[in-house]
Amino acid sequence: MVSRVIPVDPFDLTIFGGTGDLARRKILPGLYRRFRSGQMPEDSRIIGAARSDLDDNQYRDEVRAALKEFVDRDRLDDASLEGFLDLIRYVSIDAMGDAGWKELKAHVRPDHISAFYFSVAPSLFGPLAERLHAYGMADQSTRIVVEKPFGRDLESARELNRTLAEHFDETQIYRIDHYLGKETVQNLMALRFGNVLFEPLWNSQYVDHIQITVAETVGVGGRGGYYDRSGAMRDMVQNHLMQLLCLIAMEPPSQFDPDAVRDEKLKAIRALDPVKPDSIVRGQYTGKGSTPSYLEDVEAEESNTESFIALKVNISNWRWAGTPIYLRTGKRLKARQSEIAVVFKDAPHSIFGAEAGRHRNILTIRLQPNEGMTLGVTIKEPGPGGMRLIDVPLDMTFAEALGAENDQVTDAYERLVMDVIRGNQTLFMRGDEVEAAWAWTDPIIESWDSTDRKPFPYEPGSSGPEESAMMLHRENRRWREIRE
Ligand code: NAP
Repeated sequence: MVSRVIPVDPFDLTIFGGTGDLARRKILPGLYRRFRSGQMPEDSRIIGAARSDLDDNQYRDEVRAALKEFVDRDRLDDASLEGFLDLIRYVSIDAMGDAGWKELKAHVRPDHISAFYFSVAPSLFGPLAERLHAYGMADQSTRIVVEKPFGRDLESARELNRTLAEHFDETQIYRIDHYLGKETVQNLMALRFGNVLFEPLWNSQYVDHIQITVAETVGVGGRGGYYDRSGAMRDMVQNHLMQLLCLIAMEPPSQFDPDAVRDEKLKAIRALDPVKPDSIVRGQYTGKGSTPSYLEDVEAEESNTESFIALKVNISNWRWAGTPIYLRTGKRLKARQSEIAVVFKDAPHSIFGAEAGRHRNILTIRLQPNEGMTLGVTIKEPGPGGMRLIDVPLDMTFAEALGAENDQVTDAYERLVMDVIRGNQTLFMRGDEVEAAWAWTDPIIESWDSTDRKPFPYEPGSSGPEESAMMLHRENRRWREIRE
């Protein structure tokens, strides 16, 4: 299948934090791939901005090194690499001071789309917005891209929204949740709203429950200080899992337009019930062999922060009342696996008798690894021996279905940055959505902050604490296996 690449208009994209980890690993490699695919006009500029004292060529050397490290070798040809590096500029700038701002202004051309990516610590988001305004770079066409975390509770998120709103209209603010840029996540909308097959079944009459799992094998790594103040609830559930839940649970928007989609997501968040204490299991990984424990990773004597959380969420509306959504995420688990599983109810009556066996249809939407979807269907076991039923997967792995060479399976960041340039906010979180998500999350966090209850220990390489399995077991359900 041939990829259809629609070029964007020429732009100036400034990456504040252009020397940082996210820029090196994700943003710059993604932009390079879009350049190579022909989507990015050669009249565009990418301006790295950070405090480090570099000139354009020194920064280009850093970008070249990052691309060599983070772009697949077969996509790195000299002509594309040099062509891309020609677009690169660098400005040494201080978000907290006046150094570099006039130089930046000189680089940003008034007749081009201008976007500013805030790939810096959240404490710098406000100062950057203020200075962009003060130095005359915040006109009506300017776009700003804001990274996570967007606040650490409702109050701080509101405060940040207020600060940004002093200088930018909501239509100019692109709050990134890179999960929304994943091919599969968008396909979830295509699946639900582009087929007649699923939507009639997409409700509590036919769906027994839904599981959303984001399992990681890594520990907290070098982010120990940040992570220990956040935990899995703030770091993963309030944003990524919540976004997935919204897309699964929302009503069909009238059109695929930013506000129509985000209005429906907001309604879904507002319909979430408060979570009861016995519907939450928190865990913290222990050490095993040479694998350090959570406490060793965060270099603390003790900590009540969760590196694992499982929750049962109920939605109070006509579509979902009675169908729970189970959320689960954690670090140092058995495998790196992110998926949404829609588990349908049993057929109302088995005509084949008990000995034939019974299987439920499960629709699995895989985010990683191997983005794709699988629908488990029941068929007759082949061969003689009477009617025995087995479950077989109808499987679609996107990279295979679309052709391995195809650039259509793009990384989330590159898709989202191109959406910023196109001015399409559909896959970005609106301010009220973020606040609603915190409004739901805050009481849960406060409830365990006030009790001093410790997270349950779990071994690295496991599926989390036993209590998480028990939570579903009590309701005659079980988690889907996290497979190695
Ligand atoms: P990082 O590696 O620590 O990079 C921070 C960047 O900010 C550096 O380029 C640094 O360069 C620059 N910087 C620091 N202080 C500055 C100042 N006063 N003025 C101008 N520039 C300044 O951080 P990161 O991991 O790239 O993360 C960036 C943002 O993305 C954070 O909000 C983070 O939460 C978010 N994020 C990161 C990841 C990830 O995988 N890394 C994933 C999701 C979200 P100088 O020291 O030269 O100034």
